[in-house]
Amino acid sequence: MVDTNMRLISMLGLLTIIVIISLLFDYLRILKRPVRLGLGVAVLGIVVGFILTLNAVLPANHFYGPVFSESRTSQKLVALTFDDGPYPPYTGQVLDVLKERNIPATFFVIGQNAAKYPELLRRIVAEGHQLGNHTYNHVDLLKLDRQGIIAEIEKTNQVIAAAVGYPPHVMRPPHGFRDAVVMDAMAEKKLKVIEWSVASRDWVNPGAEVIAERTLGKVQNGSVILLHDGDGIAAALPREQTVAATRIIIDKLLAQGYTFVTVDEIRKMSEE
Ligand SMILES: [Zn+2]
Repeated sequence: MVDTNMRLISMLGLLTIIVIISLLFDYLRILKRPVRLGLGVAVLGIVVGFILTLNAVLPANHFYGPVFSESRTSQKLVALTFDDGPYPPYTGQVLDVLKERNIPATFFVIGQNAAKYPELLRRIVAEGHQLGNHTYNHVDLLKLDRQGIIAEIEKTNQVIAAAVGYPPHVMRPPHGFRDAVVMDAMAEKKLKVIEWSVASRDWVNPGAEVIAERTLGKVQNGSVILLHDGDGIAAALPREQTVAATRIIIDKLLAQGYTFVTVDEIRKMSEE
């Protein structure tokens, strides 16, 4: 965990300058003896930049602050999470599948979609599911300043609270991207950052069977499964494959003895 408010992009910019200067020094033979120090620093700079970037985009890394991506538990528990809704008719269809099997899930909703369909938010809550904040405009938070990040979060929390009576206490950054400033802003807003441990790239619609197969191949005790009932703010792609895959995933995992819980419930199960 880093205790700096430097943005990822600033750190990468600084590293790029260091790499260029180091290579220049190496070329001019200024830092060439006794070893090629300039070249060494340049290579180190590239490696550090790569590591910093990986930590901002990989869902299970804690370098910029604590995120939740799965539970360490010996119990056969699993959490389904759906991003980018509400998005008719698919959010309703996902809710139908969950209702038929009496399965709870967690929905990370986009603020501007939530503002359009508050009745779907009320249905999500009425049927026992958890709501999370997925920003207002589904923007990459690494591209916003601190004020912009806070605005995305607050606006969405207001829309959710207006629809269901209370704001969520969990959030998922779009694409999972975060850095020190994003994490610090979430801590200030008292929002837990939730990532995932099982993704199937359902957002590119590879086929329901493929989505289900990829998901089932990775699920273990305490997994947090990422699926999409929406399509960002574009709302262009259909999500019937995810709806069909959800049905297969639930039935297969129930047959294997898994119990489905919300993100809050699976977070409590961490045996550390
Ligand atoms: Zn998303």
